[in-house]
Amino acid sequence: MPQAPAWLAELDALYDANIRVEGLEDRRFQPEQWWNVAAPLANAADGFAVEEIGRSVEGRPLRHVRWGQGPTPVLLWSQMHGDESTASMALADLFRFLGEHPDHPLVQRIGAGTTLHFLPIVNPDGAARFQRRNAQGIDINRDARALASPEARALHELRERLQPAFGFNLHDQNVGTRVGDSGRGTAIALLAPAYNEAREVNASRARAIEVAVAIRAVLEPYIAGYMAKWDDTFNARAFGDLTQQAGVSTILIESGGIEGDPQKQQLRKLNFLALVGALDAIATGSHAGLPHAPYEELPENGDTWPDLLVTGGTLAVPGQPRAHVDVIVDFEQPLLWREGRIREVGDLAGRNARRTIDATGLYIVPFHPPGPTAGRGTPAFGTGTAAHFHLSRDPEGRDVVWTLAGDIDPAQPAP
Ligand SMILES: [Zn+2]
Repeated sequence: MPQAPAWLAELDALYDANIRVEGLEDRRFQPEQWWNVAAPLANAADGFAVEEIGRSVEGRPLRHVRWGQGPTPVLLWSQMHGDESTASMALADLFRFLGEHPDHPLVQRIGAGTTLHFLPIVNPDGAARFQRRNAQGIDINRDARALASPEARALHELRERLQPAFGFNLHDQNVGTRVGDSGRGTAIALLAPAYNEAREVNASRARAIEVAVAIRAVLEPYIAGYMAKWDDTFNARAFGDLTQQAGVSTILIESGGIEGDPQKQQLRKLNFLALVGALDAIATGSHAGLPHAPYEELPENGDTWPDLLVTGGTLAVPGQPRAHVDVIVDFEQPLLWREGRIREVGDLAGRNARRTIDATGLYIVPFHPPGPTAGRGTPAFGTGTAAHFHLSRDPEGRDVVWTLAGDIDPAQPAP
């Protein structure tokens, strides 16, 4: 494992004081909000050039941002899945670092060695709804071959025009995904995508692996044991794979989750530090010759654990026979434990989850969510229903010890 770069502690401190951009504290920001924050940073006086290269299905602008005068072109794109916003936040921070710290040695090196090209928020219509797909229902990362969507065409045409040497494909992955067969959640997963079915390593992919090793060296002091490798099965419809195939050394960065980091602000910082480390390695050529082992030996992403498992309770629904059950609940906003929905009911012994509540000796008593209840009858409880139930010492729900009302109350996360 290469040592962490000597500049890491200084940049970490500078980030907290003078790099993190305000206005992106909620990861469900609107794309227009992102540009309101980022556009003043990407100004010509600080060496940026911005051009509109297309429009989304709903007419939102797709903008290419350029910075730097170095010989090595690098293309970075974020949020082609609209609900994967972590790297977009980090790109705004990167704009600020590059623009407002021109004398910083890292900025000088990156500016002299690379020309950076950004396509932030490839899928602004999806971002506006915080959904994966674009406004036509197309998964843009399965549209790299067909190019049916205007967003995919814009990214493809930009890549064809720029012929970058390196590409960064920036995503978020499921918060429940574990590192290998461990119980640890993946904070960040890396991939140097394959360019063919045989998953061979040519010179271009080898450079991507070297850069992934440089990224691991930056992140290791923060999230050792919480990094994984994405599955490198070749996918002929995905941008990372086809970009690698085109001879662009491509690195996929997937931000997963860190418990207690509900808005992914810590992951945002780690994205920033990882990108600076990668770009410095590219600018100086210091990635060349790095051993592949620290990348190859990363455990792959393993199982995806559900969010909440309630074990050993007795289901008490009026008019139904009592039943001894376990319950799995998944949350629409898993890091915030919001918008829970029942996923499974029954004997789930031996299952794992991000959080487990032992309800032995307690009754699971469903209740109606807030709103008019007249004529609604027995509260729904079953796979797919919103998770509204008490854990109670009595079957009528009078002696309640814990309540899940769709969202988990942060003041009482468990009984
Ligand atoms: Zn994605």
